[in-house]
Amino acid sequence: MLTEFGKLYVVATPIGNLADISFRAVEVLKQVDLIAAEDTRHVKMLLQHYGITNKLVSLHQHNEDKASSVLLEKLRAGQSIALVSDAGTPLLSDPGMPLVKMVKDAGLDVVPIPGACALIAALSAGGLPVTQFSFEGFLPRTSSARKAFFYERVMSPKTWAFYESCHRILASLQDMAEIIPLERQIVIARELTKLHETIIKTSLRNALEMVEQNENMRKGEFVVIVDGAVNEKKEQIITTEQEKLLRVLLRECSIKTAVAMAVEITGVRKKVLYQAALVIDKEKDA
Ligand code: SAM
Repeated sequence: MLTEFGKLYVVATPIGNLADISFRAVEVLKQVDLIAAEDTRHVKMLLQHYGITNKLVSLHQHNEDKASSVLLEKLRAGQSIALVSDAGTPLLSDPGMPLVKMVKDAGLDVVPIPGACALIAALSAGGLPVTQFSFEGFLPRTSSARKAFFYERVMSPKTWAFYESCHRILASLQDMAEIIPLERQIVIARELTKLHETIIKTSLRNALEMVEQNENMRKGEFVVIVDGAVNEKKEQIITTEQEKLLRVLLRECSIKTAVAMAVEITGVRKKVLYQAALVIDKEKDA
């Protein structure tokens, strides 16, 4: 006998404005047997708004593996399930990857119901090139790890984007300003689709000043987009050979002495070598 397996629907929900949900998403949320949600209390508000009274089960980062196995069994038994996160598209810096992988690996259908996503909304209205871009999710939490992260991307020719919270936006921009050239164009997309939506495209220098001086610019949710390094000069980075030299010097001397010697030998800017030295030095503790 042929068994009819259920389908897993990955459903995008609004990132602020409740009207940003597709007709199809509402239909699917009404019709499935079960909705797997990151935070069931949170999603109830959305469901109430659309008159959806469906069964909810929680699937968050702390129970994902176990909950996913249970959900897979339900799909095998023929039930259909919708996966939603607190906001936007599931899996994009949100739970769901283990479930989707498990269901795909089991050969069952995973159906996307596309819709809001803060990353795509910011890219679509930010005004920086989007032909090629990389998405970096959330940044590391410590300042030294963030600087290393920026250092790795400083010469990337592609646009890159990351998510940031109100708690760290200022610190992240301050760290960025130590590594990324201050004239680089960036976009700060804040509170997208909400009352205080702000999308600013300006230099890193101006953006940092705005966030430092205006308390409101530190409130809400953020997507930060950074332009690629297309027109920047090579002397703003160090070559592999110069990095090797710096590594040797760091083995023998303090950061200060190693950087001073490397400046003399290579002619590369002190700030650039100093940042590279910090990153190399940090590797020792990793
Ligand atoms: N899955 C979601 C999506 O599709 O965009 C993102 C979830 S992630 C846990 C939450 C982060 O996304 C926030 O910290 C913020 O960086 C970004 N974000 C979510 N909603 C946003 C909004 N309305 N405006 C700006 N950024 C937002």
